[in-house]
Amino acid sequence: MAYVIPQCPVPAVAVNGTKDRFPVHRLYCVGRNYAEHSREMGHDPDRELPFFFQKFPDNILPSGPKDNAKFPYPPLSKNVHHEIELVAALGAGGSDVSEKKAMDLVWGYAVGIDMTRRDLQGEVKKAGKPWDIGKAFEHSAPMGPVCPASVVGHPKSGHIWLSVNGKIRQDGDIKQMIWKLPEIIAHLSTQFELKAGDLIFTGTPAGVGAVEKGDILEGGVDGVGEIKLVVV
Ligand code: MN
Repeated sequence: MAYVIPQCPVPAVAVNGTKDRFPVHRLYCVGRNYAEHSREMGHDPDRELPFFFQKFPDNILPSGPKDNAKFPYPPLSKNVHHEIELVAALGAGGSDVSEKKAMDLVWGYAVGIDMTRRDLQGEVKKAGKPWDIGKAFEHSAPMGPVCPASVVGHPKSGHIWLSVNGKIRQDGDIKQMIWKLPEIIAHLSTQFELKAGDLIFTGTPAGVGAVEKGDILEGGVDGVGEIKLVVV
């Protein structure tokens, strides 16, 4: 047997401090998981169950603190937003995983940015169409290396921040997440069969905003790492 066209490479991200790679299966994102961000987007955080959307694994743009990663300003949009997020990387999967067992699935953590074509997302939202065009475009998932939980533990609190050209835009704490990671995994695993290699972007604190060509984005989550990229 041979593939009739060249096979795409397996999407993967670096494992912090090693030459190893973490192969990516799927990329899930949690919507509106910090109350202040939910309100800034015009929603009531008290009334919502967690909800999820996906990006494509090959949307990942490796962007460690020293990679000098370049984020190409995407086509069709005039309002591209940054959303700094804690990313959980799963080393095992399952369906209908209980909250009690959920953390057994988590292999490590990374810092990611859920780049969003906000204008396109707004248009499709209004029209009741899928979010993909706003969320799942090329290079829309910059992320740093995965840090094994065996090294960094399972952070439940810690500063999460993002600056543009040295000015702080997003400034929160991961303890402000409405739905905590065990709840996220439990809910998500009722909707999809989770697998080793899945990444979960866990939502963003308030302060999302537009980027322009030439901007330098820096961000991080205490205890997990930092990310840096330039918009080109
Ligand atoms: Mn997001």
